[in-house]
Amino acid sequence: MEKLTIPETLQKNITYHSEVCDRHTYIKAGQEIVKPIQKMVIDGELVCPRCELEQGDRKLQAATQKEYDEYLKQKKYNTFYNRSILADNTILAATLENYHVEHQEERKNKQTVMESISRLKNGQVFNLILQGNQGAGKSHLAYAALRELNESGLDISCLFVNVESMMRLIKDSFNNKESRYSENYFVELMSEADYLALDDIGAETGAIGTDKIATDFVQRVLYAITTTRQDKTTLITTNLSSETLFRMYDKKLISRLFRNPKFVVFKETKDKRMNNIPF
Ligand SMILES: [Zn+2]
Repeated sequence: MEKLTIPETLQKNITYHSEVCDRHTYIKAGQEIVKPIQKMVIDGELVCPRCELEQGDRKLQAATQKEYDEYLKQKKYNTFYNRSILADNTILAATLENYHVEHQEERKNKQTVMESISRLKNGQVFNLILQGNQGAGKSHLAYAALRELNESGLDISCLFVNVESMMRLIKDSFNNKESRYSENYFVELMSEADYLALDDIGAETGAIGTDKIATDFVQRVLYAITTTRQDKTTLITTNLSSETLFRMYDKKLISRLFRNPKFVVFKETKDKRMNNIPF
């Protein structure tokens, strides 16, 4: 039989002890039979070597779990910056700070949005509907609100989706099987997001203010999302009146979007994007 030579340095620190480990001695009926383990004195401390190994395993497992949890949290955080679908990149700069307030209506609406963010951070669930004139800054506020939530350090995911851009991507995917932007991709992505903004709903039909009915796949995608998001907060921006929305879409779909709502309505605010034009 081969005899192991223990290095001298270890020989100094490890000695066997007459005691056996309590945890690794008892043999109960129906349980795994464990041979009694003789304790050791390692570096002056009396320990059971098997207990030490098991504890090491648990520590490693906990460390691995923690790393995995961190990874998931980071992935959720990145959703907002990596997966959002924007109509144009200028919105990337939108914050609450740079939403300039000139008139009473803007001040009041910005205040409402800020209060809503606080309520959402505290775990309340409701739909935030920003309605009104084109260019009043509804998308700006919705994007800024999601940014606030995303940067709050909560373990959540946010997603901003310009509906028209999304619908164009889905439509393109019908003829391009290589495209990742399928109907299912978006339904899954938008269902999973903790906070979703549907930007400029109604504009995707290209018929604002008319009686045009939204196409089948648009209805289908939005309907699927409202089904999966019944206990989550969705932010909606639109130029259209509720009357027009009810005419264009399945009534049940709009009812769901407007359930438990907080309305932010712009009636007086002019197109902010035109402010710099001097005539
Ligand atoms: Zn033990």
